[in-house]
Amino acid sequence: MTRRTLDQSSKLKNVLYEIRGKALVEAARLESEGHQILKLNTGNPAVFGFEAPHQIVRDMLAALPNAHGYSDSKGIISARRAVVSRYEQIEDFPRFDPDDVYLGNGVSELITMVMQALLDEGDEVLIPAPDYPLWTAMTSLAGGTPVHYVCDEENGWQPDLDDIRARITPQTKAIVIINPNNPTGAVYSREVLEGIVQIARENQLLLLSDEIYDRILFDGVDHIPTATLAPDLLCLTFNGLSKTYRVAGFRSGWLVITGPKTHAKGFLEGITLLASTRLCPNVPAQHAVQAALGGVQSIDALISPTGRLHEQRDIAWQGLESIPGVSCVKPEGALYAFPKLDPNVHEIRDDEKLVYDLLVSEKILLVQGTGFNWATPDHLRVVTLPEARVLSEAVERLGNFLSSYRQ
Ligand code: PLP
Repeated sequence: MTRRTLDQSSKLKNVLYEIRGKALVEAARLESEGHQILKLNTGNPAVFGFEAPHQIVRDMLAALPNAHGYSDSKGIISARRAVVSRYEQIEDFPRFDPDDVYLGNGVSELITMVMQALLDEGDEVLIPAPDYPLWTAMTSLAGGTPVHYVCDEENGWQPDLDDIRARITPQTKAIVIINPNNPTGAVYSREVLEGIVQIARENQLLLLSDEIYDRILFDGVDHIPTATLAPDLLCLTFNGLSKTYRVAGFRSGWLVITGPKTHAKGFLEGITLLASTRLCPNVPAQHAVQAALGGVQSIDALISPTGRLHEQRDIAWQGLESIPGVSCVKPEGALYAFPKLDPNVHEIRDDEKLVYDLLVSEKILLVQGTGFNWATPDHLRVVTLPEARVLSEAVERLGNFLSSYRQ
């Protein structure tokens, strides 16, 4: 019997997610041969020795015996109330109630749901370049067209407002803001955010603001939630427990809807419909939300000038800057550095190959800049989560490797 070939659906044609891409398969092969691979490809705090805050684990365990049923599709009310209280403490954040909150199996699921509810074939979404690539992938999967606007490396990776304006067409439906940014570590200025909001206002764009790193900030910079500048616009704010609370494996995130809603009734009903088709988010992980948001914000000790995340950010940044032909904008937030390889010094034609060759030679796994929808093969993303000693050795080895690497 000849079997019918099963190809992947054509919907996946433009769906890319290089953070867990082909190099990871090679890493697994090398590991099976007994090599130790330093995986600096994902922002997963747990694998670098960051413990889950005890209070969260305790409350989740206490809830477990009674968390075996499905919950409301939007999530348990105590967690949604905790999300409301969190934002009540932020000056100027528009008021909303628990009905405007959707919990999800991580921000990832909520991004997927929102794009599916929003987009028809041909609708365009403005997404930063570089970006966290799930936004581009889920726009494509939903039938939309991702249109990348440039963030300006010369200007600390702030979004380029002129470039955003130039890319708007009658098909543009929404603009994605990732602040603090993955992969650049940029935290956006008030001026730039006000500019983006004004563009959204003039062009009737939906604001999609991914703020999952909003509490991971260095050097005293402030994070300005997009919604605080846009009380008159529909704004969807995404956040969760994966990074600030180091429990990425729990898969726990939330989406908050603010601003006028009457014109978007159909879209919002679409999100509710999709929330109900996934039945509900993982219920034990929903019980982590109230404990996390109500308790001591343990991230504060990690990001203070003597804190682990701050120290590691410094080590990564200084080490990268000291490599000949490499420059790096100092990350002001999040868990990454996004160094540039000067094309006059390092002639890289294929950055995916560079990452592969680095893996095979040095047993270090990074992600190439083009994996973040950056157009030219001249950047790498480094996760700044490993402890100082491991991080400085990895950066040193990267420098040694680059000194003799040619393509
Ligand atoms: N948004 C950004 C900017 C991220 O960096 C990540 C994960 O790295 C996510 C969303 C997904 O997070 P979650 O674990 O909540 O699905």
